[in-house]
Amino acid sequence: MRLDGKVALVTGASRGIGRAVAKALAAEGATVAINYNGSEEAAKQAAAEIEADGGKAFICQCSVADAEAVEAMIKEVIATYKRLDILVNNAGITRDNLILKMKEEEFEDVIDTNLKGVFHTSKHAARQMLRQKSGSIVNISSISGVMGNAGQTNYAASKAGVIGFTKSLARELASREIRVNAIAPGFIETEMTEKLPEAAVAAGKGQIPFGRFGKAEEVAKAVCFLASSDASYITGQVLHVDGGMGM
Ligand code: NAP
Repeated sequence: MRLDGKVALVTGASRGIGRAVAKALAAEGATVAINYNGSEEAAKQAAAEIEADGGKAFICQCSVADAEAVEAMIKEVIATYKRLDILVNNAGITRDNLILKMKEEEFEDVIDTNLKGVFHTSKHAARQMLRQKSGSIVNISSISGVMGNAGQTNYAASKAGVIGFTKSLARELASREIRVNAIAPGFIETEMTEKLPEAAVAAGKGQIPFGRFGKAEEVAKAVCFLASSDASYITGQVLHVDGGMGM
């Protein structure tokens, strides 16, 4: 398979897109570290499903917003598996509100998880990838970070930040053949979009040329491509997986 012998870390892989990504990477032959924050049972179930399909996975708890915990987690992955080939920065949260109602902590929580989390993991993963002179980082941004979205100033700012971070890190690491790319999903069927009001779902679908929300597995396929050597000459890019919404 395409990722045989590779070691991957997927943040926020207990549920939703991250879980689908972990399963897809394992199906391609990678050993996958399933990071989670609070959903231990779901993370265990994701690992069990991978193992039932003949793949290799293990779970590791930490909040990506916690710099010290992230450093310890990545050290443990490297100590156990001696390498880290793929980092998928997927962990993310929303705390939607209109600007006049948005509380300081709603803005900070989203930036701390969605943007600073990417900094924390990338810093320690990059150290190992530089030693190896190889690696691929895939950051999950969002169509909100490209187009903006009313009620999501915090979230859109974090996801636009991820795009700037991706391009800058791609430039920093390119000379060592380490690639850094981002994916901008549109509306994807997960618990994150399940909590949207019906009117927002209808309005969202109206903006999508495909007329439907995407599936987590459709994002996972794109992650596998960017993570693999099939994308060996691609870095600093933002791949939209959005049914044409952001074209
Ligand atoms: P989800 O179903 O709500 O799952 C979020 C995942 O992130 C969970 O596994 C959760 O783990 C984890 N997480 C949250 N905070 C964390 C933290 N501090 N540290 C570590 N893990 C944490 O969300 P999703 O829809 O799959 O979204 C995944 C990513 O895609 C996010 O970055 C999101 O912004 C992005 N995205 C989603 C959509 C969409 O329509 N769904 C569209 C564009 C972009 P626990 O449950 O263990 O806390």
